[in-house]
Amino acid sequence: MQSSLPNEQFLQIAKEFGTPVYVYHAEKIKTQYEKLVNAFSVLDTKFFYACKALTNINVLRYIKSIGCNIDCSSINEVKLALHAGFEPRNVLYTSNGIAFDEIEEAVSYGVNVNIDSLSNLEKFGKKFGHNYPVGIRIRPNIMAGGNIKISTGHSKSKFGIPVEQLDELKRIVKENNIHIRTLHLHTGSEIKEVDVFIKGMEVLFELMPHFPELEVLDLGGGFKVPYHPHEKEIDVVAIGAGLKKAFDEHPTADHKKLQVWFEPGKFLVCEAGYLLTQVNVLKANNGVTIAGVNTGLNHLIRPMMYDAYHHITNISNPAGAEQHYMVTGYICETDTFADDRLLNEVREGDCLLFHNAGAYGFEMSSNYNSRYKPAEVLVKDGGAQLIRKREEWDDLLKNQVI
Ligand SMILES: *Cc1c(COP(=O)(O)O)cnc(C)c1O
Repeated sequence: MQSSLPNEQFLQIAKEFGTPVYVYHAEKIKTQYEKLVNAFSVLDTKFFYACKALTNINVLRYIKSIGCNIDCSSINEVKLALHAGFEPRNVLYTSNGIAFDEIEEAVSYGVNVNIDSLSNLEKFGKKFGHNYPVGIRIRPNIMAGGNIKISTGHSKSKFGIPVEQLDELKRIVKENNIHIRTLHLHTGSEIKEVDVFIKGMEVLFELMPHFPELEVLDLGGGFKVPYHPHEKEIDVVAIGAGLKKAFDEHPTADHKKLQVWFEPGKFLVCEAGYLLTQVNVLKANNGVTIAGVNTGLNHLIRPMMYDAYHHITNISNPAGAEQHYMVTGYICETDTFADDRLLNEVREGDCLLFHNAGAYGFEMSSNYNSRYKPAEVLVKDGGAQLIRKREEWDDLLKNQVI
């Protein structure tokens, strides 16, 4: 699997900023964004980067600079988005399981809001009536996504208002005269089937007649990117064409009147990010050598949390003879990054590069084992710039009462 930057540049970054370090490649984010824009040009589309994947303010500013909007999963993400300079109308807060006061706060900033429970919708109606156009998140009962832990639209999922509760939903909307502008769904992450998006759209088409003020169908995110060298990216061009066809064949849905929104997270930043590490120790172990790196599940939890595959390359010895390795972290807990992986011969001190680390990498990191969170570097126009300092001793004690 080819990285989007040369090995020499990573080695230079390791020298200059130390390891472990997250490295993001700005132009790769832009390439991904442009793929989406082109694929969906047949519809009136707006993209909102699901920023929970990676919220470094410099990345947010870059994403704004290429013309993309932003989707948030907490009120603090909304505040980060505004701080990064996004206009409130280009910010979307897709809430889930939150207290109503966060919705009120979001309204006070003037951002778009998607509400995901009847309870909050009723409170919203009582407070704002028809005055603030709003979106509702529907749970369509569609099973989708790479695995059950990242599947969010199925019939047991906590996310969204179950579609079978339509009568109750309509009652609340009518009684409070709520202005429903958006119908939203998001069925999961790492979706590779084009069909899932078409099916989701059809669920929203069915609901459409009940919400006459509708302007937006929001189909969420979840576009799959390749993690494994033999995997493929989801065919976004086929989704664009499929959705256009669904519109054209529907007796009343009009793609000139309805905007389609998407909330890509991984698709934009996953492949643009790398975790650059160094090998601390080698241990012989029945033919599969253990390579222990200077990071762990504290910095990249996806392999232990979701059994996620991350491609690894030995950038210090790319011509070395291939051998089998188990790559593990330094945390006092099992943190296996790869079980039995062919890598170019690994020596202590070599730099191992973890691919696909831009999404849900740094963002899910912690201080477990009282380790520091890593630094973050952004490569843009060929130059590498520090965008987050590595933590240090004072950060560990900062909030402790001593
Ligand atoms: C997480 C999330 C996304 C992004 O999912 P990806 O798999 O990263 O594309 C989009 N919309 C909502 C509501 C989400 O919670």
